[in-house]
Amino acid sequence: MAQRLDGKALAHKIQSQLAVDIGREGSQRERPPGLAVVMIGDNPASAAYVRNKERACERVGIASFGSHLPTDTSQATVTDLIDQLNQDNRVDGILIQLPLPEHLDAVALLNCIDPAKDVDGLHPENMGRLVRGEPGLRSCTPAGIMALLNEYTIDPTGKKAVVLGRSILVGKPMALMLLEANATVTIAHSRTGNLPALCRQADVLVAAVGRPGIVKDDWVKPGATVIDVGINRIQDKTSGKSKLVGDVDFASIEPIAGAITPVPGGIGPMTVTMLLHNTVLSYRKRFNG
Ligand code: NAP
Repeated sequence: MAQRLDGKALAHKIQSQLAVDIGREGSQRERPPGLAVVMIGDNPASAAYVRNKERACERVGIASFGSHLPTDTSQATVTDLIDQLNQDNRVDGILIQLPLPEHLDAVALLNCIDPAKDVDGLHPENMGRLVRGEPGLRSCTPAGIMALLNEYTIDPTGKKAVVLGRSILVGKPMALMLLEANATVTIAHSRTGNLPALCRQADVLVAAVGRPGIVKDDWVKPGATVIDVGINRIQDKTSGKSKLVGDVDFASIEPIAGAITPVPGGIGPMTVTMLLHNTVLSYRKRFNG
């Protein structure tokens, strides 16, 4: 049976340490770290993620400045809000909850965020720093995956890694971080041929697709590390209730993989934790330069 990589437990450990650090550092400065989450519209999944992030902030002592705007908010209004948050000295991190309503240009809005407050690591400056291997704010989900691999002493050096998915949010930064950690990386996507054969070569397989159970047992090399980023809500066939599943067919793969992340309790909690971590990094940088 594969070792389960417990993202929930590591998230708890890192958040406890962050709470201690924030308590100490906040008492030496005039304010605690601050995170502004901008949400537009009423997508229920986004609302749940935002609540989760705000609760996590509260747990560790980060002040949160939520802005929940109606679906029909204009591009100019959101741009003005981001400008204000860029100037606001209480705010160290700004996050725009994606996806946005269709009439809004998400890329243009992300580009308005001050790169020093870009705790999601999606601004071209921070992406560029990642490409160049320079320090900067790193995209939360792949950074969380790297922290989890490190916790379980899974060193990607010299290993073959396959990343399924090429989004700016997960796939591309994930590939760059694995490359930085000396893996030999292949990025696959919807146009890649013969995915099962490609994935079977992977020592480290990361699935960030958004298709429930797309990765089957015959896609996995025995002993491989399998990281499941997917979060898909489906209806359970027997109970009829809705439940969360990943992109990996966990039950069939757990017996053959060397290590595997569960859904829920794997990468989700690590993503939120890295958001808090980035907010604290940005806070320290603002005080210490
Ligand atoms: P996305 O922007 O929709 O990207 C999905 C990627 O998967 C695309 O590159 C797409 O290829 C590829 N793809 C789609 N169908 C495919 C197929 N049949 N075969 C191979 N590749 C395929 O999604 P995302 O934002 O990266 O998120 C991916 C998943 O991770 C979602 O389930 C999301 O909810 C989840 N997620 C979880 C966390 C977390 O904290 N755990 C964080 C972020 C996202 P093309 O580029 O060719 O279209």
